[in-house]
Amino acid sequence: MATLAELSLISTLRDTGAEVLDDPGSLDFYAHDIYSRGADLAAIVRPANTGQLAAAVKVAIEAGRPVAPRGGGMSYTGGYTQQQPGAVLFDLAALDRILDINETDMTVKVEAGCTWAKLYEALQPMGLRTPMWGTLSGLKASIGGGMSQNGIFWGSSRHGSAALSCVALEVVLADGTVMRTGSEFSRPYGPDLTGLFCGDTGALGIKATVTLRLVREAAHNAYASFVFDDHASWLAASSEIERSDIATECFGFDPNLNALRMKRDSLSSDARQLVGMMKKEAGSGGGVLKALKEGAKVVAAGRDFLKDARFSLHVLAEGRIAAAAEADIEAARAIVHRHGGREVENSIPKIVRANPFGPLNSMLGPDGERWAPIHGLLPHGKAQDCYNAINALFDRHRDEMERLGIHIGTLVANVGGQGVIIEPCIYWPDASNPLIRDTVEDSHLKRLPKLAANAESWALTQKLKRALVDLFFEHKAVHFQIGRTYRYRESLDPAANALLQLLKRQLDPKGLMNPGSLGL
Ligand SMILES: Cc1cc2nc3c(=O)[nH]c(=O)nc-3n(C[C@H](O)[C@H](O)[C@H](O)COP(=O)(O)OP(=O)(O)OC[C@H]3O[C@@H](n4cnc5c(N)ncnc54)[C@H](O)[C@@H]3O)c2cc1C
Repeated sequence: MATLAELSLISTLRDTGAEVLDDPGSLDFYAHDIYSRGADLAAIVRPANTGQLAAAVKVAIEAGRPVAPRGGGMSYTGGYTQQQPGAVLFDLAALDRILDINETDMTVKVEAGCTWAKLYEALQPMGLRTPMWGTLSGLKASIGGGMSQNGIFWGSSRHGSAALSCVALEVVLADGTVMRTGSEFSRPYGPDLTGLFCGDTGALGIKATVTLRLVREAAHNAYASFVFDDHASWLAASSEIERSDIATECFGFDPNLNALRMKRDSLSSDARQLVGMMKKEAGSGGGVLKALKEGAKVVAAGRDFLKDARFSLHVLAEGRIAAAAEADIEAARAIVHRHGGREVENSIPKIVRANPFGPLNSMLGPDGERWAPIHGLLPHGKAQDCYNAINALFDRHRDEMERLGIHIGTLVANVGGQGVIIEPCIYWPDASNPLIRDTVEDSHLKRLPKLAANAESWALTQKLKRALVDLFFEHKAVHFQIGRTYRYRESLDPAANALLQLLKRQLDPKGLMNPGSLGL
């Protein structure tokens, strides 16, 4: 039963014109992220414009309620889930307009809830793109979430992480002020106030709009895939490719992840992805014949080339002319050759690139298991040691993991000018949650076993996750999606930590803006 105070809060929130949800189903749904459930929420506010967002934030904070922003909800580090009950969650999915595509100044301004997929669709016919142009979760994940988490994937081997593509923000502060963070066309302008809010996982304010840089979409793509027998040569080749600045994306899977992907791909409808790939081939000047040929090649190759693969590495290159993209791939081949790798069919990068924002079915394992990625971004010089330490950690828990059916698979990805991401993913048998069931396609969900809650395997997963966070901390890794998971504050210089606290107090004197996120 809602209390009188709650009823009055909800009615005042509704007075702002924003949609407000307070039914038990919605409150439970929004209390989850992909990984876990937070404390009970008091209300969900779905503003349709910046004015409603600012007014509703002011109402909630004046009523003494914590507030938390949620974009697409596609995170798993407790960024918007709450530790204390009674918060007001702001679902920004309806704040998703593309406000201005400025081809003269090469910027685009969007509302924060706009998804990467929506922006990509709008820019593609114009031959434009943002430098980093989305996370693999971009079908649902928002650009505001991307700036607040600072993620990687599309374009990241060349252009670095998401926040580097951002020019300016409009941020709603705890008192309802809408603050512009600098110039609309140039960043940084003086001290980088835009940067202050990038990667804050919503602890300092709620982004209402995001202005991003635009670049011309490359006309030509080239792809290659390689396999390696050991992780040392795999990581070394990947690092050298990053330092050579030849790839737009470069990512790899360890043997466990290769095996998992093979199993999952056999469950999913490759045909639909293949059509996407053939369309891309036809559209990029190759014509229908080339598209058919490429499609036939992928079908013929199947996934058997990965059957015995130990470590795989996938390299994507782009150029204004085909020869430039091919030359980059040729350079990657030479690097791989020097490190003892060999080339295999390139269907994985081709298919992924042609369907950049596919359905998010990989949040469940091929046997219906739960999935939790934990990552660290490391300089190349520290990647090998860290990788060895991760293996040693899992070796120490091997028997217990086997007994409970827990397994892992590790992904690596280059981040241009910043190093390499190492991301072990834990898969454990356990019940899914309402957010996962809502996100995974029904047709895929039907093919998966429905698992029961498993407290023992959940407990070990939590323990492994904490151990990985500590391990990354000890190896001085840095992180995206800090939320309530990574040890960010402890890793700061004491003077920087003190400044951050001062800024938090200035921007959010009552400590009600997503309390606990970023460790604040
Ligand atoms: C299948 C799958 C694939 C993924 N692939 C990638 C990948 O390729 N690369 C990658 O980096 N990550 C990936 N992720 C993780 C995640 O989806 C991304 O980090 C993404 O950027 C989250 O965006 P979102 O809009 O869903 O954010 P949310 O989950 O809604 O929020 C994330 C954080 O940002 C804050 N926030 C959201 N919107 C705002 C706002 N407007 N103002 C202030 N704070 C805000 C929230 O409070 C929270 O702390 C993946 C996740 C899944 C499930």
